Amino acid sequence: MGAPGGGKGTISKKILKDFKFNHISTGDILRKHVQDKTELGLIANSYMVKGALVPDTVVIDMLRLIHKNKKNDESLLLDGFPRTIEQAKQLSTIFPIDCLISLDIPHQTIIDRLSNRWIHAPSGRIYSYDYNPPKIHNKDDITGEPLSQRDDDKPETISKRLVSYEQMTKPLIEYYRNHSKNTHVEVFQGTESDVIYPNVKNYLLKHFKTK
Ligand code: ADP
Repeated sequence: MGAPGGGKGTISKKILKDFKFNHISTGDILRKHVQDKTELGLIANSYMVKGALVPDTVVIDMLRLIHKNKKNDESLLLDGFPRTIEQAKQLSTIFPIDCLISLDIPHQTIIDRLSNRWIHAPSGRIYSYDYNPPKIHNKDDITGEPLSQRDDDKPETISKRLVSYEQMTKPLIEYYRNHSKNTHVEVFQGTESDVIYPNVKNYLLKHFKTK
């Protein structure tokens, strides 16, 4: 868990290098549906562009489908799910949650970071004008195609996403502490994923083996 732009995707990638999890990012799955213009994508997009959460029923149905196709011995890294108490309640009937990692990143850091994030939409390559700028301004390094900004990374939408995170998602930390005895909850503070990750890794090593 973590506020939008707080580095969930970056930390997830680092976790996947060290641990054997199947990565499920509800944001990535939804964006793929939007790109492919599926029925689900059209519904989801109308919420995503406004910086709102997609309705619980839509994402829960998506998760049920993933569960149906899940191999028995596989552990999942859920990135961006659950985001509401309702999703957490429904999730508890599908999978047990062993660990909850919450990234607590200052909002100003997030606002600066998101407004500097540009993507090459067809490949999903992400650039940041702070730390990995494209070689040529506004062009993808590999294809030379133009970069774009995610609709929901535009400044007016970022603040809506942060409010929705504070109101709908952050309360999940207390929810898991109080209602899910078997879930280990840990909050990590900081501003840089490279500095935060070693602490996340040490924590995960208490519960999972590395690859
Ligand atoms: P971020 O954490 O930066 O918002 P994500 O890629 O995780 O990025 O999500 C992008 C958008 O997709 C969210 O703003 C929301 O509209 C939608 N979304 C993703 N996961 C969920 C979820 N579990 N419940 C509802 N909406 C979701």
